[in-house]
Amino acid sequence: MIYFDNAATTPLDERVFEAMKPYLLEHFGNPSSTHALGRQVKVALEEARKSIASLLKCHSSEIFFTSCATEANNAIIKGVVDKMGVKHIITSKLEHHAVLQPAEDLAKRGLVELHYVNNDSQGAIDLGHLEELLKSHECALVSIMHANNELGNVNAIEEIGELCKQNNALFHSDTVQTAGHNVFDLEKFPIDYMVASAHKFHGPKGVGFMFVRKEKRFSPLVSGGAQEKELRAGTENVASIIGMTEAFELAQNEIDVNEVVLKRLKSYLVDELMSRFDCLTINGTVDSSLNNILSLSISPEKTSTMLLFSLDMKGIALSGGSACGSGAVSSHVMEAIHSDPKAGVIRISLSRLNTKEEIDVLVKALEEQFK
Ligand code: PLP
Repeated sequence: MIYFDNAATTPLDERVFEAMKPYLLEHFGNPSSTHALGRQVKVALEEARKSIASLLKCHSSEIFFTSCATEANNAIIKGVVDKMGVKHIITSKLEHHAVLQPAEDLAKRGLVELHYVNNDSQGAIDLGHLEELLKSHECALVSIMHANNELGNVNAIEEIGELCKQNNALFHSDTVQTAGHNVFDLEKFPIDYMVASAHKFHGPKGVGFMFVRKEKRFSPLVSGGAQEKELRAGTENVASIIGMTEAFELAQNEIDVNEVVLKRLKSYLVDELMSRFDCLTINGTVDSSLNNILSLSISPEKTSTMLLFSLDMKGIALSGGSACGSGAVSSHVMEAIHSDPKAGVIRISLSRLNTKEEIDVLVKALEEQFK
């Protein structure tokens, strides 16, 4: 199987699995237990928190473990509205449903007014419009993702954060597609809340974390226990947290090598596809884009479902967009960039484990499809 769906999830790194094993088999104590078995696990958990915090240049008390990034996004958006007196949520139509749905739910319940920042046909956020919205709405929470999971667009979150700061707004960024892949300096980044999901950087599924800036704490989404300093109740998924930490350390330590590999692969992929197929066009902002995501529209509008199915039959896995939206007929992101929502779209998402030879196989398979 050739795997080009790394924005949906990445394969587990064997080194991560090795780090997790002792916490599945030997160190099984509950970190909240006061006996030696529990205390030993608690120490490992706090070491993990410290390690993530030091890589992000924040304090370990600002890192909270969650079951995934969807939970973290929900906890932040709902909790901030509940606790921080937020009256307006400013977001964009290109956000993941894990941001859009909680924001829409709060608006439907009359708890906030929802405002969408304009974007252009490549999906670039209109910062002038964001500033206007900020100036005309006090007590706002801004939620703008760092990088878009369907298009690969990277947003200027430092600039957005500065605008929020100048206008006394809180700033949350869904950083799922960049956490582990980018360097964050939270001492300097004007960002109040960020999230991560381990399975996007070769860690296990079902675990993530949120960064919550000190003094910007909110009410818990999950209550009923004192874990995670009462911000997220429930026994911690210890082995997965250890695995996520190992994956995060590896991703950060190997960031330069991985970047070179991914840049080379993406540029080869783009050159091969653009030189051979007139029927493909690239979606998204070309100059500010992730090295691992390429979104393409197919014209004449072939159904991407048939294409993806044929490629799957040949052992090539890629997707039409977000895995979380699978089953949906159209993509809200494609709609937001004014593309025909039913047009054929494919997303090729790479990891450091892909090779040029795999790209050659994909190109050959596409040639057979389009001939
Ligand atoms: N936000 C973005 C941008 C994503 O790409 C995803 C997953 O694809 C999520 C949120 C949800 O993450 P999780 O799978 O950890 O719930």
